[in-house]
Amino acid sequence: MKPDLFESPDYFGLDDLLTEEHKLVRAAAREWVKREVSPIIEDAAQKATFPQSIVHGLAEIGAFGPYIPETYGGAGLDQISYGLIMQEIERGDSGVRSTASVQSSLVMYPIYAYGNEDQRQKYLPKLASGELMGCFGLTEPDHGSNPGGMTTNYKDMGDHFLLNGAKMWISNAPFADIAIVWAKNDEGRIHGLIVERGMEGFSTPETHNKWSLRASATGELIFDNVKVPKHNLLPNKSGLGGPLGCLDSARYGIAWGAIGAAMDCYDTALRYSKERIQFGKPIGQFQLQQKKLAEMITEITKAQLMAWRLGVLKNEGRATSAQISMAKRNNVEMAINIAREARQMLGGMGITGDYPIMRHMMNLESVITYEGTHDIHLLITGMDITGLNGFK
Ligand SMILES: Cc1cc2nc3c(=O)[nH]c(=O)nc-3n(C[C@H](O)[C@H](O)[C@H](O)COP(=O)(O)OP(=O)(O)OC[C@H]3O[C@@H](n4cnc5c(N)ncnc54)[C@H](O)[C@@H]3O)c2cc1C
Repeated sequence: MKPDLFESPDYFGLDDLLTEEHKLVRAAAREWVKREVSPIIEDAAQKATFPQSIVHGLAEIGAFGPYIPETYGGAGLDQISYGLIMQEIERGDSGVRSTASVQSSLVMYPIYAYGNEDQRQKYLPKLASGELMGCFGLTEPDHGSNPGGMTTNYKDMGDHFLLNGAKMWISNAPFADIAIVWAKNDEGRIHGLIVERGMEGFSTPETHNKWSLRASATGELIFDNVKVPKHNLLPNKSGLGGPLGCLDSARYGIAWGAIGAAMDCYDTALRYSKERIQFGKPIGQFQLQQKKLAEMITEITKAQLMAWRLGVLKNEGRATSAQISMAKRNNVEMAINIAREARQMLGGMGITGDYPIMRHMMNLESVITYEGTHDIHLLITGMDITGLNGFK
């Protein structure tokens, strides 16, 4: 992999909309990605291994629980800082951002928002420091886009719960110390349970042969009569709104993160277009290549504005789930289109690991699928504007 020469595009001067704290947080994350992620990420992706060495650094830059209060070990930052951290991490790699998103929004957030004080004290500081890693089990083999149909269930056995079922496509599962598992009780109501590695009957086999998010570990969660202590139930939320609330937070982070991947592809293609000579000229002088670059920066700028405005709404507690869906859908599609165009601009070199574009492009195939597919987010917008449910 070539040295990381990334320069962030800011065509509309959006930095003027950021506070000094936002810029400091972003600078720390960017510098860390250049120093610790860029040199190792291509090798990790090629070998399909999660680079454990980055866990400590992710904690140091505040990527584990950026908006969780400092009393619980979080960074106590606002939603725009959270978004900027996700953007910078995904500029390095979507798989690394996935690890941070899961830990923050899908593990720490439900413990913070739906847990009791004992659970917050027990888990949050260790999750914030990376001493404990978590995963989030919602998707099942037969229930992906329709998680409400889940069959994973727990029975009240008096002094404990007995958990049975299976989850698949779970990021961080192979190494996670704890799992937030969504399961139905005897009445068919969904609740979150904290399942710990080492509980008898709980296993986490790794999913192999992925061509996407290769630097992120994915696996299954299998529950075979797992005895879960009653105090591991998240008491303050029930129903599908529990997991969906977590997904709102993670999808918001993805809306920012995808901009990072797009910026890296654009920046790489722009630099290459000035260096690569064909027919006696830099390819950037040909109008066809300029069209690609001009459209890329236009789309990135629109996505940046959307993410920033969504961040303002989120800080004010006014962002709706439908707005978050729209931003996730738009920005990931924008990023994947830019990755495809940028890859072409590098010609044959674009398919190699000497440049990050092909890795981003393959990663984004997962990002456009997880946390609600591209189609599902369209249906959410459609339902929001018409008031008519197009899901069923
Ligand atoms: C790398 C990776 C990591 C993941 N990490 C996690 C994780 O950490 N935790 C977790 O719980 N899950 C995780 N997921 C699962 C992810 O959220 C699901 O893959 C996603 O929700 C889609 O579910 P599915 O794969 O079962 O596809 P399906 O739901 O089977 O969908 C197949 C196709 O049908 C379409 N479709 C479905 N319903 C409708 C409808 N009503 N109308 C029109 N079209 C429809 C979909 O858009 C899609 O194109 C991960 C997935 C991947 C690939």
